[in-house]
Amino acid sequence: MGFSIIVHGGAGKIEAASAPSRIAGCRAAAETGYAVLERNGSALDAVQAAVVALENNPLFNAGTGSTLNREGKVENDAAIMDGATLRAGAVAAVSGVRNPVKLARKIMEAGPHILLAGEGAHGFAREHDVELCDPAELVVAAQRAHWEKEHGTVGAAALDAHGHLAAATSTGGVFDKLPGRVGDTPLLGCGTYANEYAAVSCTGLGEDIMRVTLARHAAYLVEQGAEASSAAREAIAYCSGKTRGEAGLILVDRDGGLGFARNSVNMPVCAMADDARVVLEI
Ligand code: ASP
Repeated sequence: MGFSIIVHGGAGKIEAASAPSRIAGCRAAAETGYAVLERNGSALDAVQAAVVALENNPLFNAGTGSTLNREGKVENDAAIMDGATLRAGAVAAVSGVRNPVKLARKIMEAGPHILLAGEGAHGFAREHDVELCDPAELVVAAQRAHWEKEHGTVGAAALDAHGHLAAATSTGGVFDKLPGRVGDTPLLGCGTYANEYAAVSCTGLGEDIMRVTLARHAAYLVEQGAEASSAAREAIAYCSGKTRGEAGLILVDRDGGLGFARNSVNMPVCAMADDARVVLEI
């Protein structure tokens, strides 16, 4: 059985000067996830490892390097979903957690809930030994200076050698958002979705992605027989047709087919498959 992984570093316009480091960050994250798959690891562990790598990279709007809300604070959203079992975990508007995707995974493992928000999510992290940090540590100087120019939500989707799919997404949200604002990322079927047909991670304006339940829409197209790359393109075209929102998505299907599409100027992507395919896009 083949395996593959695809990661994205967020829809938006990327300044030429930062393009090489962003694509290198995506590549490093894809390689981290790929190494998990190569060791016969699960798609779930692979997408988590890839997203943690991107959360720890200050260039991206997730974990360290997250964008600031109207009060100058970081509030994170993240989700992870196992396509084989439909189990999922998610956090919304949580502060002071170094790797929100790890907290999402803990919530998934603990059950019975899927999505915890704000103080409740932070309390759960404390009780379950998820690494906490001073919220100020997630703010990097570049974000303080000017965030609105470039985005950088991160996500990963993978198929493992056991034929299981998984997806994960993590973000600081949108610049200048109101405290408590929750985007598409932690909402299953909106920013993140995985089932037995496809794993999908989205990026772009969350309010518009939610309106069309973009991730589930793309997975449904695959379920109906669409090939991975046309499902990705068709889903983005649908989103563009229904909303004016900027959006992008990555997708893996159960045969290891890889798809990605965007209506934004840029979206760094790195995909790796065990047949030696490597795709890099900015
Ligand atoms: N989708 C994210 C949100 O709306 C932002 C992004 O992808 O850039 O929170």
